[in-house]
Parts: sequence; structure tokens; C-alpha cells
Amino acid sequence: MADKTVKVHVSNLKKSFGKLEVLKDISMDIHEGEVVVLLGPSGSGKSTLLNMLGGLDIPTSGEIKIQGKKLSDLNDEQLTIFRRRSIGFIFQNYSLLQSLTMYENIIAPLSLQKKKVIEMKKKAIELAKLLNIEHTLDKFPNECSGGEKQRAAIARALITNPKLIVADEPTGNLDSKNSHELLEMLKNMNTEESRTIIMVTHDPQIASYSSKLIYITDGKIVKELERKNMSQKDYFYEIMKITSTDAQLFF
Ligand code: ADP
Ligand code: MG
Repeated sequence: MADKTVKVHVSNLKKSFGKLEVLKDISMDIHEGEVVVLLGPSGSGKSTLLNMLGGLDIPTSGEIKIQGKKLSDLNDEQLTIFRRRSIGFIFQNYSLLQSLTMYENIIAPLSLQKKKVIEMKKKAIELAKLLNIEHTLDKFPNECSGGEKQRAAIARALITNPKLIVADEPTGNLDSKNSHELLEMLKNMNTEESRTIIMVTHDPQIASYSSKLIYITDGKIVKELERKNMSQKDYFYEIMKITSTDAQLFF
């Protein structure tokens, strides 16, 4: 739809590490409420792009605007504050702190905002119920399953109620049943709260949960595909076509 609010605007983004050109002129718009998947083979630059969208790394050239705010206009401290307030991060390795309980991990972002303990507790329990990990709150991460830890990492990403969520291979450590449950959950939360989700994956099946697909190879966007009214199955087949065309280039 033409009148949707642009949440993330990227223009002519380039990123090099030394002589290695990893992102080669990326331009795209992501709109409010979209679930966007960045799909592409390993090493194509997906994580690099996501890290820059989340303000974790700085582009070599080009521009990123989030909610109309140019990231390059912010100094380190402003960027940190912006990130904490506006963006929820979910990483593949969960990055939970082993010395904290699941509850303490989940509320960690709120303690940085100096919220009242009672408020934090209420929110953590609410999210834990929603994600079905209430029974794990007093445990330590090493006493929990991979699926439970991943859901705790999601609760932690959601606890500040960010309108933008960035997730890097969030189902990377889950079996297929847990992956699909998790994606259903994320999708439902997204429809209820008009959150924008940007997720990186190399798995076409995971990608079929998105509302828009951005296919990246070798640091360039080679294709964009919107799900629109397609069934998830038809969307999956369309995605497979894109990835297999790409595979033909290599084999
Ligand atoms: P993907 O997430 O699609 O698998 P990445 O964005 O992680 O790909 O990496 C893209 C390329 O950039 C790879 O060749 C990787 O080795 C390189 N790269 C990523 N981060 C760095 C870094 N900090 N320093 C040097 N090279 C990097
Ligand atoms: Mg990656």
C-alpha cells in the first residue's frame, strides 16, 4: 500500500571491511507493520545489513533513517539510547546471561530504564505467560531447553515494547516444530500491535512467514517479493523459485 508509514529507509548503503566490499549499494523501504525477511545464502551480507539497521555497526557510505531519524546524525550516546528505547534485538545464540535467572534476563533492558520493580515484574510475567515460559522464570538459562531460552530472548526483546524488532536467524537453534510455533507467535504479536519485524534467515520455509521478502546475494538486493494475498504455501513456492534460480547461477 502506498500510504503506509515508512519505518526504515535505506539508501545507497555500502559497507566494506578493509578491502572486502560486503554491501554494495542497498536501497529499500520497510513499512510499519511489515514482517520483512532478509533471505540469502550464507556470507551474502544479511547480518551485516541487519546490524547496521539496528545501529550496531556504521555504514561505509549511504543513509539509514528509522522513523524519519537519520542514524548518522546521532552520536554514540544518542544511538545507544535510541537503540534501547526503540529496537528489540533477537540473536541466534540467545545471548542470555548465564549468571542471571530467566526472569532477571528478561527484565534486564527495563532496569536500564530505571523502571519500578513492580512494573517490571508485571510485564515480565505477562510476556512469559504469552510465550509459555512462566514456569522457567526462577531457573537459570542452563536449566532450560533451547526453545525456552529462545523464547526468553524474545521476551527480553519485547519487554520495552519496541515498535521495531530485528532478529538474526532467531530459529537457528530450534527444531522445526519449535521454529514454526515461534514464528506463529511472532506473527500474531505483530498483527496485534503493529510492530515492524525484520528477520534474517537462509531458510525459505522460515521466510514464508514474512509479509515481504528481500532476497540478497553477494551484498546486493536481487529480488523483492510481497506476499499480498498469496497463501503461505504458494508464497513458499514463489520463494523457492527465487532461491533455485539463484542456485542455477552457481551450479
Ligand atoms: P550472512 O549473515 O549473510 O551470512 P555476513 O553479513 O555475516 O553474512 O557476512 C558477509 C561477509 O562479510 C562475509 O564474507 C564475512 O566474512 C564478512 N564480514 C562480516 N563481518 C565482518 C567483520 N567484522 N570483519 C571482516 N569481515 C566481516
Ligand atoms: Mg548471518
